[in-house]
Amino acid sequence: MPRVKDNAFIINKTDYGESDIIITLFSAGRGKISCIAKGAKRSRRRFPGSLELFSKVSFNGFIKHPLALTRIDECQLLNPYLGIQDELKGYLNGCYFLEIINRCAAERQHNRKIFELLGDLFTFLSAVPYNRNFNCRIRLFELQIITLLGFKPELLSCLNCGLKLEEENSKDRFFHFSPQSGGIVCKQCRKRHPAAFTVSQGTINLLNQAHRLDNELRNKVNFTPQVEAESARLCRALLSWHSGCSFKSLKIMEGFLSRSDDLSTLIPDNVNKRNNLNKYGVKQ
Ligand SMILES: [Zn+2]
Repeated sequence: MPRVKDNAFIINKTDYGESDIIITLFSAGRGKISCIAKGAKRSRRRFPGSLELFSKVSFNGFIKHPLALTRIDECQLLNPYLGIQDELKGYLNGCYFLEIINRCAAERQHNRKIFELLGDLFTFLSAVPYNRNFNCRIRLFELQIITLLGFKPELLSCLNCGLKLEEENSKDRFFHFSPQSGGIVCKQCRKRHPAAFTVSQGTINLLNQAHRLDNELRNKVNFTPQVEAESARLCRALLSWHSGCSFKSLKIMEGFLSRSDDLSTLIPDNVNKRNNLNKYGVKQ
């Protein structure tokens, strides 16, 4: 039975029976792994507050069978990223990214870059009030994660006929994005892609450049509302196509944000703690 010792982020958790917890980790060495923490609800010594969503932990366990849940014996907290729960925007966007990883990342497939990106993302979401260009940075994280998952969209030429973006007549500024094909199609080829939707050339150019930005430039870049909206639509359509379903976290986020920019004062902290809810009334 191979032993496992690694660092990981908690990306999902579900109570199981009276004392166990089933958790999904994204680990540095083995990617996404589904695990069971036996007796986790009773043992504060082996699991000292270390099984909360977004937490970075160091864990020990073993793999009994390649298809079975990895058994976690001990889990120590390295960073709880508590700031994520301080702001509605940070928490809801964090849940969206957790759902992306839960639905789209392959089980037990090493991907160190996704592990590192989660660290950068959770650090960013922990400090929402201090971040400029929040929505733009979220779009860039979305694009990065899509690329690291292997879904990088083809945005340089028509996937059907090969027409290059720069060859298109300047009057025909709109290409169309086809989620099924994972890229753009030109005006003439659009009829073969009924689900394709228009994306402006400006957005396509910016997204092509975004792949090449370093961390310093990511902090400075800003999108217009049109680019931001088109980028979000493109990335979400691509993710829905690959995962085969729409994202629950997006529906929740859209519902919350349409009602208020900040619901943090609606639910007193002591009530939430008593009911094991976070400050937005969502069960932890
Ligand atoms: Zn074409």
